[in-house]
Amino acid sequence: MALPSLHRCLQLSDENEQLVKKLKKLQIRNKELEENLGQVQGEAHLQQFLRDCVTSRDVQVQTETRLLDRGGHSQDLTLEGDSVRLLQMYNELQKRYIKEIKANQEQRLSFSTASTLSLLSSSLSLLLLCFFCEFLIYYVVIFQCQWPEVKGRADMGEKETSASVLKAMILADTHLLGEIKGHWLDKLRREWQMERSFQTALWFLQPDIVFVLGDVFDEGKWSSPQAWADDVRRFRKMFSHPVSTELVVLVGNHDIGFHYEMTTYKVNRFEKIFNFTSGKLITRKGTNFVLVNSVAMEGDGCAVCRAAEAKLVALSHRLNCSQQPPGHSSKRCGDVEKLPASAPILLQHYPLYRKSDAKCSGEDTAPPEEKNTLFKEKYDVLSREASQKLMWWFRPRLVLSGHTHSACEVLHAGKIPEISVPSFSWRNRNNPSFVMGSITPTDFSLQKCFLPYESRVFALYWAAGALLGILLLAHFQLLTPPFYFAQRLISKHKAA
Ligand SMILES: [Zn+2]
Repeated sequence: MALPSLHRCLQLSDENEQLVKKLKKLQIRNKELEENLGQVQGEAHLQQFLRDCVTSRDVQVQTETRLLDRGGHSQDLTLEGDSVRLLQMYNELQKRYIKEIKANQEQRLSFSTASTLSLLSSSLSLLLLCFFCEFLIYYVVIFQCQWPEVKGRADMGEKETSASVLKAMILADTHLLGEIKGHWLDKLRREWQMERSFQTALWFLQPDIVFVLGDVFDEGKWSSPQAWADDVRRFRKMFSHPVSTELVVLVGNHDIGFHYEMTTYKVNRFEKIFNFTSGKLITRKGTNFVLVNSVAMEGDGCAVCRAAEAKLVALSHRLNCSQQPPGHSSKRCGDVEKLPASAPILLQHYPLYRKSDAKCSGEDTAPPEEKNTLFKEKYDVLSREASQKLMWWFRPRLVLSGHTHSACEVLHAGKIPEISVPSFSWRNRNNPSFVMGSITPTDFSLQKCFLPYESRVFALYWAAGALLGILLLAHFQLLTPPFYFAQRLISKHKAA
């Protein structure tokens, strides 16, 4: 068989290529036709659907109708039949929408009124709480304090006994803040608390005499004359008292400085204002009180110390002579002016020497971590020597002191009781207190009167503040989403 010529081959190949191109064109055209067919079918379906859904069709009828907008305003429109139906549905929906909006607004208004009322009542409650915590609470707490009972002499009637009992209120370490260390808010609050406590106690308990056992001021040891004058003015205002009550103020290390910073100027400044001298005797209803400047009991022979000790020695002589039974008076007591024959009560700022507060018991003693700390002589407590001297000189029946800010009862030499009076200021304690003493020449009875716990007052404020915060959030609808969230959770739970 003869092979086709090369020319014939090329001709066939060209024809083949032409045929492939024609085939491709036909395929594209086929695709387009298929798509057109799909569209036509879709339109046919839609027309069928409209015929099924719309029961009457009157293409040529034109109707006048109104369009409601969301504000409830209407607008006249001219529309065809299907559109009229749709428009009617739309208007129905708009009416329902407007109704819902109105209902919602009414609900919001009533919610807002209720929320404003609850906010107002909460603010009023907060004001009442402030009034209670800053004023009434002192009455509530101090009303629970009673003067302790004390026995009179066997030959005395009940009336005579009550007339012969001296009602003494003893407090310590008020530490009125000064201009250097005291923050104005701290100062304002502490002084308000002490003033209210003191004035309420005066009004309710009506003591005959009040003793303040030193550290009246916090910065008396370094205050300028102006600052000192301001401190004194505030003290007089806070501790103002009727003439029927006597106020006796003793000196403490914060008033004139520790021994190394004590000067005659500072001692005189204090003594002039408070009419205090070391070795001063105050005799009321037959009871002798000896006031001691314990900062001057250093025993180093300094000028202030020598003068103080000399006065104490002279006073002890007078007191000891007065206690001698009639007819047994020694020659040395011949020219001594007699005092009531009652063993004195010693009042001072520093406590007599004790090792530590380890043996103290009661709810207002030093914190456990401080109880075993050994006391430093002449700093935390008087030196052993000075303590011994005071006990020898006076043989007191009771010693009352401050300085430690915590309570303690100590028995010295097995017979001389000493009471450490805690601080009267909330700056030093959560539960300040004062001591109430019913004192006769032969007996005494002491009772502590606690003031409000500051932690409890703060707890009340925190609780009230939190409640008011929640109400404020609710009032400004900042709590709405969590409420809805909770509501949804509840409804989901119920549905489940
Ligand atoms: Zn002190």
